[in-house]
Amino acid sequence: MAEVLINILGIATIITIFSLVIVMVFKMDRIKQLEMTIANLQKSLDEMDEQAKLIVRTDMELNKIQEELDKKITGLYALQRLSRTISTTLEENQIFKTIEPDYLEELGFEKACIFLWDDIAGKFSLKMDIGYFEEELKVIQEAVDGDKNIYLDLIHNERAMSSATLPKSTMLREKISQEFKVRDFVIAPIIPKEGNKGLFFVGTLNLDISLTEGDEELITIFGNQIGQALENARLFEKTWRAQQELENKVEERTRDLQMALNEVKIISRRKTDFISAVSHELRTPLTSIKGYASILLAGKLGDIPEEVRLRLDKINRHSDELTHLVNDLLDISRIESGKITMKLEPQDIRNTLASVIDLLGVQLKERQIEFSSNIPDNAFMVLADATQINRVFINLIGNALKFTPPNGKIIVNSRKNDGQIQIDVTDTGCGIPEEAQDAIFEEFYRVDNLINQQVKGTGLGLSLVKHIIEAHGGRIWVTSKFNSGATFSFALPCA
Ligand code: ADP
Repeated sequence: MAEVLINILGIATIITIFSLVIVMVFKMDRIKQLEMTIANLQKSLDEMDEQAKLIVRTDMELNKIQEELDKKITGLYALQRLSRTISTTLEENQIFKTIEPDYLEELGFEKACIFLWDDIAGKFSLKMDIGYFEEELKVIQEAVDGDKNIYLDLIHNERAMSSATLPKSTMLREKISQEFKVRDFVIAPIIPKEGNKGLFFVGTLNLDISLTEGDEELITIFGNQIGQALENARLFEKTWRAQQELENKVEERTRDLQMALNEVKIISRRKTDFISAVSHELRTPLTSIKGYASILLAGKLGDIPEEVRLRLDKINRHSDELTHLVNDLLDISRIESGKITMKLEPQDIRNTLASVIDLLGVQLKERQIEFSSNIPDNAFMVLADATQINRVFINLIGNALKFTPPNGKIIVNSRKNDGQIQIDVTDTGCGIPEEAQDAIFEEFYRVDNLINQQVKGTGLGLSLVKHIIEAHGGRIWVTSKFNSGATFSFALPCA
């Protein structure tokens, strides 16, 4: 029984052990599976961790890019505002004053200076500085003087230099940082087309700021703007100086001319006074000569032989011519000196003309010259002194008669022109050479032609006419071609 029990116990133990082994095997298998799952999970976790790190890195980079973009935009805005101010400044020193610390800060820098090359001194001279002490500037000036070739090369190569493009290890970078007392910097050339070139230096000590190539571009643009502004200022200065010189010259010439004019006026007044005095003195004896000649000619003192009559006749005619000349001279000098004033009244030109034609009718007939006038019925009234305008017509038509050969024509036309009445006296006579057309209005000028050699004249008629017309506020001129007639035109104010 005990044996059976032992056997049963043994079998049960074996079964139990067997079962345990089977369970163990199963458990082991499960543990293996779990371990694999854990390994997989670990792998996934690692991968996720990597991805998270990547995301963080990308986010940081994006933030940095965003920051740089913000900085660039702020810099561009600052540059735009500064460009606007700088481009409207036309004085060199004022240009440098417009670069204020605020602008610089917006560009991300707190120190700046501008040097311009001075050809005469053969060195760079400081034109503007921001963020430096006096003592520091002295040191910088010395350093720039010592290394001037580096900076001249930079200008010559027209290229900016910065701590963003020069590797950290470069000696030059170290040198510039030390000389200008900054950590990061940009140096851009200033290259105006005219005048001295220079350097624009900006720098920062700020450790949080790292320079990019974009900063270099911005400062290069800034340097160009300064160059452009300097060029404009220099051009403006040049133009202004030229204008100033011109103005001074004009002023000087005007003064000279004014003095010359005053002298001419004095001389002219003296001449007028002289002519006036002489004419007066001549008139009295002339009147007696003519008076006595007339008395003798009239036989009031008894009969005179024919020979004497002929001589007396000549004396009479010559005295008439002389009286005429003296009267014309006196009138010219009186008008010139303002002693004769025009009595201006509305005049109908046709009436004045009719009385002149009446006077010259016989001569016109004698010389077989056809006269016609083309003044409309509703003739324009002029504001004029009737007696003086009468003399104008007598002189102009008298001349036309004198210089037009028989069977010629004299025509008078009138028209309204620019608020004035223009009257044209045209003839078909010998005309006036172009070079004499101004001179004929001067006193005693006569064209040297065949008619003038035969016909007597004083050369005073047209001068008197000109004085009369100008005293009316009008003007007179001639258009003529030699040998093809002449047209004397004058304009008078409308009534
Ligand atoms: P004068 O007739 O006494 O010589 P004027 O002063 O009237 O003096 O004229 C000056 C000169 O102008 C004349 O000598 C003449 O040469 C020229 N002249 C004037 N009118 C005419 C004309 N209608 N045709 C040609 N020449 C003229």
